[in-house]
Amino acid sequence: MFILVDANSFFCHCEKLFRPDLANREVVVLSNNDGCVVSATRKVKQELGIKTGQPFFEIKEQCRKNNVATFSSNFSLYTKISKRMSDILKRYSNHVEVYSIDESFIMLPNYTNLDWKEFGKEIKDEVERILGMPVSVGIAKTKALSKICNHIAKKGSGVCYFSSDEEMDNLFSNLSVKEIWGIGKASANKLRMYGIKTVLDFKNYKNQNNIKKIITKVGLQVHQELNGEICFSLNENPKARKSIMCSRTFSKAVYDLKDLERKVASFITNAALKLRNEKGKTSCIEIFLIKKTYQNDLEPTDRISNFVSKKIKVELATNNTFSLIRISLALLKEIFENASSYKKAGVILSNISHETLQLSLFEQENEKEKKITNVVDQINARLGRDLVYSAACLGEKEEFYKQDYCSPRYLTSWDDLPVAG
Ligand SMILES: [Mg+2]
Repeated sequence: MFILVDANSFFCHCEKLFRPDLANREVVVLSNNDGCVVSATRKVKQELGIKTGQPFFEIKEQCRKNNVATFSSNFSLYTKISKRMSDILKRYSNHVEVYSIDESFIMLPNYTNLDWKEFGKEIKDEVERILGMPVSVGIAKTKALSKICNHIAKKGSGVCYFSSDEEMDNLFSNLSVKEIWGIGKASANKLRMYGIKTVLDFKNYKNQNNIKKIITKVGLQVHQELNGEICFSLNENPKARKSIMCSRTFSKAVYDLKDLERKVASFITNAALKLRNEKGKTSCIEIFLIKKTYQNDLEPTDRISNFVSKKIKVELATNNTFSLIRISLALLKEIFENASSYKKAGVILSNISHETLQLSLFEQENEKEKKITNVVDQINARLGRDLVYSAACLGEKEEFYKQDYCSPRYLTSWDDLPVAG
């Protein structure tokens, strides 16, 4: 049995946990740089029609009028609460897959004498009792089924388990095919042309070759999972990431090389920190730029040429911010064109290795810079993100982290501990 436990409006409820005064208020949480909505409580979505992904400037006034509490994202808080949530779930089984920051699969043998609905309720109540986090629980024989059950649980009592196939099919006949795991809008439109509109249509569709043709092999596996056949097993040790990307669309077009250099240096600073946190090293550094074009002077065939990129493989894998900045700024100089304006830039670190590589005979890691990086990481971890950084980013960092509505780091900073009174 797969039990999918998924938190409801996770980021919003993390914020609410420390603010009892917000118990009866609606909440939205904004993305990095306060750009758009990444999480919203149910009423905000249902009654105010605000969607995740919507730009903040569009809804700012609406939030103010409706007394919606607004927060910048506070990832150090969310990550800590996520860990506490998965720790609670691990009491129920040794087999838990943390699927994302707010959802986990638990796997258990299919005990025939267990009341699964009651069991799901117990998990839900326990997470809420210990952590104060509202969650929904979907229980079924496969991952894809438990995903749909979780979706149904969210709309209803918070727990969903079907004791009979008839009961399940009945509900599936009223559910759009879009609600199936991995089926997006585009695939749903394609399936509609074959007369597949509901989850039940898809589950009962017999021509497997067609499914493979319309939505590839993974789609076919999902189809088998809906019919009770396990294709996706529990992944208890998710592999570390293969690449790390950091990019941003600028609020104004950028013409100046110096300005782009600061931005690229600041992307590298973020990506390198992620790399070190995962104890990885990269040996392939890529930077890309996207030019701004004006509709009148653009033929459709030109569109592809807006994207320029350059990558380099280095012999000695590294996670040192300073050497990565040097490499990326050299790449930037090669692709930057005077008289062009750019609307987006980014860096990608790939070929990530996690074991300690043998040092190359001729190249030596710069010990001094390694030590400086360590000290910088320690200072920033203790006293606040980006207190110290390379001068190559000067002037950029302040703008990059526009977080006007950030809550305290209640769980990761002594200075931010909540005080009674
Ligand atoms: Mg969720």
